[in-house]
Amino acid sequence: MIAPALEIKNLVKVYKNGVHAVDDISLTVEQGDFFALLGPNGAGKSTTIGIITSLVRKTSGQIKVFGYDLDTQIEEVKTCIGVVPQEFNFAIFNKVEEIVATQAGYYGLPYKVAKHNTEKYLKLLGLWDKRKQMARMLSGGMKRRLMIARALVHEPRLLILDEPTAGVDIEVRRSMWDFLNDLNRQGVSIILTTHYLEEAENLCRNVAIINKGKIVRLAHMNELLKELENEKFILNLVMPYDRDLIINDFPVDKLDDQTFEVMVPKGKNMTDLFAQLAAQHIEVKSLRNKSNRLEELFLDLTGSHKK
Ligand code: ADP
Repeated sequence: MIAPALEIKNLVKVYKNGVHAVDDISLTVEQGDFFALLGPNGAGKSTTIGIITSLVRKTSGQIKVFGYDLDTQIEEVKTCIGVVPQEFNFAIFNKVEEIVATQAGYYGLPYKVAKHNTEKYLKLLGLWDKRKQMARMLSGGMKRRLMIARALVHEPRLLILDEPTAGVDIEVRRSMWDFLNDLNRQGVSIILTTHYLEEAENLCRNVAIINKGKIVRLAHMNELLKELENEKFILNLVMPYDRDLIINDFPVDKLDDQTFEVMVPKGKNMTDLFAQLAAQHIEVKSLRNKSNRLEELFLDLTGSHKK
C-alpha cells in the first residue's frame, strides 16, 4: 500500500490563550494530489500548516507524512516537505543565490547537488538573472518566487504553500499557477491554503473547507463544481408580495417582501420560471445572477451568509 502524502488524525491545537484554533481535524492527502485547505481568516489553516511543518506544537492528534510519524520521525518528515510560508522570512540583505544555497546546506545536500539545484530552481522560477542581487531589491512577485525556489531546493515530495498568491497581481498569480501545475504533473504533491476560491477552483483536485477549526466539507473539486451547476438568481418584484412564493421545480428563498432568491436547477429554463410567475400575476422588475458560485457555497457551508 502506498502511504498518503499526508495523513492527519484528530488534530487539535489549543493556544495558551485558550483559542481552539484546530478542533479535531482529520484528513488524507494522497500522493500526487493537489489539495486545498480553503477557509476564511482565522479558520485554522496556518495553524494546521504550522503543525505539519513543526513550527507549531500540536495539542493532540497524529500526523504522518509519506508514512513517517511527526512525533517519532521528525527528520524524515522535514526532508519530505518544502514549505512556503505566508510572510517573507529570508534575510533581506543576503543575495538571492545565497538564500537558496544556504537552505540546501541546511538540508544537508552535498555541495555539488546544492549548487546544481540552486541553479535549476532559480532558472525555473525566472530568478537566475537576479542571483547576485540582494533579496530586498526584488519586486514582491520575485520575492514570492524566491520563497518557492528556496522551498524546492532539496526537492521535497510534498510542497506546502500558505496563501501563495496573497497580494500578488493577476499576472504573477497566473504564472505561479502554471508553475505549480507543472510541478504537480511531475509528481510533487501540493497542499495550499487559500481564501481565493478561484485559486482552489483552478488548481486543486481535492478540497477541505475549514471554518473555526473544523472541517465543514471534504470533497473532490469536480464534485463541488457539479453541485454548483444549480444557479441562483435574485428577483426584485414590482410590488411587495407578503406570502411565500411557490414555484414548481424552482426552490425559492424569501429575502424580503420584494426580493426573492430563486434556484434554477440544472436542465430547467427561465421561460418556465417566468410562465409560472406570470400565471400568479407576479411582475419582476429586475433579475440578477448571484455572484461567484463557489463563493456562495462557501458562505452557505461556513454559515457566514448574510441575508
Ligand atoms: P487562518 O490561517 O485560517 O487565518 P490561523 O491558524 O492563523 O487561521 O488562526 C486560527 C485561530 O487561532 C485564530 O482565532 C487566531 O487568532 C488564533 N491564533 C493563531 N495564532 C495564534 C497564537 N500564536 N496564539 C494565540 N492564538 C493564535
